[in-house]
Amino acid sequence: MPVETGNRGLFLDLVGTLVKMDETRQLPLSPNGEIVIELMPNVVEKLAPIRNHLIFVVSNQAGIKRGRLRAEAVEAAMRELDERLGDILTGWQICPHDESDCCECRKPRSGMITELAQIYGVDLPTSTMVGDQEVDAQAAHAAGVGRFVYAKDFFGWTESV
Ligand SMILES: [Mg+2]
Ligand SMILES: [Zn+2]
Repeated sequence: MPVETGNRGLFLDLVGTLVKMDETRQLPLSPNGEIVIELMPNVVEKLAPIRNHLIFVVSNQAGIKRGRLRAEAVEAAMRELDERLGDILTGWQICPHDESDCCECRKPRSGMITELAQIYGVDLPTSTMVGDQEVDAQAAHAAGVGRFVYAKDFFGWTESV
């Protein structure tokens, strides 16, 4: 997609927002160590009709730093996710660090959002972030994203899933 300015962005958290988490709040792994992508309810239905926003995923994956996951496996999982969502993602950013790295990308910091905004000419004040945790709201605020919506409200989950 060509870089334009003034695009509205829809920034989405990954785990607990688009895909289910395991009991440690991380991406679930199969017994042979492969990432298991299981979509949360209503995700495809809600995102498929969206035409007026560029859609991105921003995800902390400290499991890469800690040796639980390989960065290449996360990238492959993101491509699988995009395919299952109907090829709607414009891009994504994965933070492979943990707290000790003091990076600019790990949420609640703003680096992943501002990087995507710069690459794709996104207008952050008219953009929206959706996530399931306070760090998502904090990252959106730090980046200057105009609106934050909790995933349960955005996707209409009426009971815990
Ligand atoms: Mg999450
Ligand atoms: Zn990082």
